Amino acid sequence: MKAGYIYCKPLSDLADEATPPAGRSSRVHALIQSLGLVGNESSCASTQCSRNTASSIVPDKAHREDLQRFHSAAFLTASLKAASGGSSIRDSDADSSSGTDEDDSDDNGSSSSRASSSFDRPRKRQRRRSSDRYGLTADPPSPDYILGIAGSSLTAALHLCVPSVASDTGTPDLREARESGKVTPYDVVFNWEGGRHHAMRDKAAGFCYVQDVGLAIDLLRRQGCVRVLETADEDGGTAINRFRYLPQTRSRRPRIMYLDLDIHFGDGVASACRHPYRYSNPATAQQLRGPKPSILTLSLHHYARGFFPANPEGGLTPIETPTPFNLSIPLNAGVSSPTYARLMSTCVGPIKDAFNPDYVVLLLGMDALHGDNLVDGAGNWSLDGEGGVAWVCDMVRSWNCRTLVLGGGGYNRLNTAKGWACATSVFLGNGFDPDGSVPEHEYWPEYGPDFSLTVAAGNIKDQNDEAHMKTIEEASEQWVERMTAIMR
Ligand SMILES: [Zn+2]
Repeated sequence: MKAGYIYCKPLSDLADEATPPAGRSSRVHALIQSLGLVGNESSCASTQCSRNTASSIVPDKAHREDLQRFHSAAFLTASLKAASGGSSIRDSDADSSSGTDEDDSDDNGSSSSRASSSFDRPRKRQRRRSSDRYGLTADPPSPDYILGIAGSSLTAALHLCVPSVASDTGTPDLREARESGKVTPYDVVFNWEGGRHHAMRDKAAGFCYVQDVGLAIDLLRRQGCVRVLETADEDGGTAINRFRYLPQTRSRRPRIMYLDLDIHFGDGVASACRHPYRYSNPATAQQLRGPKPSILTLSLHHYARGFFPANPEGGLTPIETPTPFNLSIPLNAGVSSPTYARLMSTCVGPIKDAFNPDYVVLLLGMDALHGDNLVDGAGNWSLDGEGGVAWVCDMVRSWNCRTLVLGGGGYNRLNTAKGWACATSVFLGNGFDPDGSVPEHEYWPEYGPDFSLTVAAGNIKDQNDEAHMKTIEEASEQWVERMTAIMR
């Protein structure tokens, strides 16, 4: 298991300011680092320490062109210029049409005097009032933050994007790639800054100013390459050359499964990754002969009148949907670990099996945890116990897919730090100790008086009753049946 951990202090400083609640990013990284989960080696140097660690990866900053794969030029011009007189820093190696300088006549100072290859620390900025049309009226963040967040998820995806063999990772192809040093394959990469799942093509929403998730999935789709073993032929599926047996393989585009467990519907990602093909039920022979879908999106979230986002696609995806690869599971108030345990087993697992992904992109918002400051009561999730965050992460880990783990919401910053520390530990194979204590570090005093590493459920009734669960499970069974037929 080779794990990467996206970290860059200047970007974390920007996120502290731009991703609410203020100061969350610093606390997340400080707790995870204090637990010894990030290092430069794949495991602790000390022979007495068997804990696995993730290697720190410094992300590249994205360019405007990268964002244009999803966002409209008009939106980017507005969003990347929204902070006036501030830190519209461009990379020194960016060409003159990239970055944020397309319309520099509105900025003060020359662009050349601001050239820099790194993220700058946040500065006091005068905000320019933008049109509500782009969702930018609420004090938008700096271009460095927007390009930095996109770059962080793209960097994470790139580190997962190497040729692999679906059924045997020890084949000569991968060994050669590893030994050549040209690529560094990772099994899992964490990017807790990423996960801005509400950003739309033309509009910022829900504290999300760039669709980093869709951009990362798009990169995996284009650059990921999977080798699969051919079905057995006359000589048993192997080809013989003069020196050795080689498995008979062929390349194909990877399949990417996006699983969103934030308490809010991942509407921006569903929009960015909408499957272009339409299927009848049952699919026609012509539909079945077409290209197989390469992306599946599945979001489990609270859904109720007045709850953000007000998007009708956040309801239960109809059984007859023409796009059975964009799925939504709505949950009632108080969703708790037993409900997650049941849905992961009866719905998410079978959907995963039917799609058979090579990559998983997990958006692990922590706003479903008990005690969230924005939406407490919508969720009553816990870290430990069956169906808790640790249990769910362990299940996703057991799928043995290359996995990109992203952040998302989480408006109690200490609980969010605990949740992501728990997830990091579990994906690394270290498990989670609910009786553990927060180690001493910069923010340690804030965790008093109990200094516990866990987040327990509260006394909130889980309103996902048997009738609601049955409705979801019946729909899910039908989705699985349709997907199985299409992916066959
Ligand atoms: Zn959320």
